[in-house]
Amino acid sequence: MALLAAAVLIVAVGGLSMRLGPRWPRRLFFRGPAGIVIHHTATGARVEGHVVDAERIARWHEQRGFSAEYRGEVYHIGYHYVILPDGTLQRGRPDWMMGAHTYGYNDYLGICLVGNFDSQSNPDGAQQPSRPTPAQMATLKSLLRDLMTKYRLRPEDIHEHGELGATACPGDRFPMDELRRALAGGG
Ligand SMILES: [Zn+2]
Repeated sequence: MALLAAAVLIVAVGGLSMRLGPRWPRRLFFRGPAGIVIHHTATGARVEGHVVDAERIARWHEQRGFSAEYRGEVYHIGYHYVILPDGTLQRGRPDWMMGAHTYGYNDYLGICLVGNFDSQSNPDGAQQPSRPTPAQMATLKSLLRDLMTKYRLRPEDIHEHGELGATACPGDRFPMDELRRALAGGG
């Protein structure tokens, strides 16, 4: 009987881990964002004639199976926020909903800047913006300060996607060191 209980427990834990990723205990008992992950779209401001914004990203994410329900609403976009090249801030899914943006870290808020800031995949800047615009960085800093206050997060709780997974996102032209200094020093 004890053996059976142990087997059931192993299968249950294994199943949760597979469904929710390596940090499944936190995901299971979600109590607000554990941190923030910064992404880029790895596209230009327009793709095939369409402006890349939260609505366009939601369509792409719907096709990738990221859709999920939260309090009676279905959200397709995996990010919580999108920042356009002109600095406009758009809402994705609600802060209190699990994200779909970083494997194993979807209890973090996901913020995505439109652009391709990676010198490998966008070497000559064919996709614009090829680095975050001053307007995007200003919106990002102010959003991060608000979220850090609201959820009691520290500058070290803010990560680039590439720090948490095998990806170049948000690209080597994203000024992470400068951002960290600004957040730590209030600059
Ligand atoms: Zn990313």
